[in-house]
Amino acid sequence: MQVPHKEHLYKLLVIGDLGVGKTSIIKRYVHQNFSSHYRATIGVDFALKVLHWDPETVVRLQLWDIAGQERFGNMTRVYYREAMGAFIVFDVTRPATFEAVTKWKNDLDSKLSLPNGKPVSVVLLANKCDQGKDVLVNNGLKMDQFCKEHGFVGWFETSAKENINIDEASRCLVKHILANE
Ligand code: GDP
Ligand code: MG
Repeated sequence: MQVPHKEHLYKLLVIGDLGVGKTSIIKRYVHQNFSSHYRATIGVDFALKVLHWDPETVVRLQLWDIAGQERFGNMTRVYYREAMGAFIVFDVTRPATFEAVTKWKNDLDSKLSLPNGKPVSVVLLANKCDQGKDVLVNNGLKMDQFCKEHGFVGWFETSAKENINIDEASRCLVKHILANE
């Protein structure tokens, strides 16, 4: 007997300032490893992650890593095209990277929307939480409020180094994307 089978392929963007941990998060999520050796991403890079969502559903995630252009604080429409969701990442040890979050969100929303005209689902990642907490993130209520105001579907403290909350954040994003379809 054949089990009903649904397959989804989603392009997901991982954006945010230089050095916040975008490449490390993708590496941890897809290849289960971490390196503290810094290497800036050059050229377009993406990785595939397959999720067995439930007995009937397979979700393939194509994670797009930024290609060194993050220093300009925005990306092209072509890069964003047909993405179904995004992670916007900041580094809890560097407040300026949190200030850039709204800039990234505005850039994304001005260049990309779903076929039905709605904005794509975006999850905010407060990365490097293994480094000791910053005041902003300590105040979870304030972060909840920030997400509401700026249209994030959720936020997570993550660590690519210690493998904290990356699977959870991805599940949250996929859940919202599936609910939007
Ligand atoms: P990207 O420029 O946003 O892609 O950032 P990278 O993934 O290249 O990471 C920049 C630096 O931060 C590297 O030296 C990483 O090893 C380090 N890093 C990334 N994620 C974490 C984390 O969760 N915790 C700690 N302590 N360091 C991290
Ligand atoms: Mg990178």
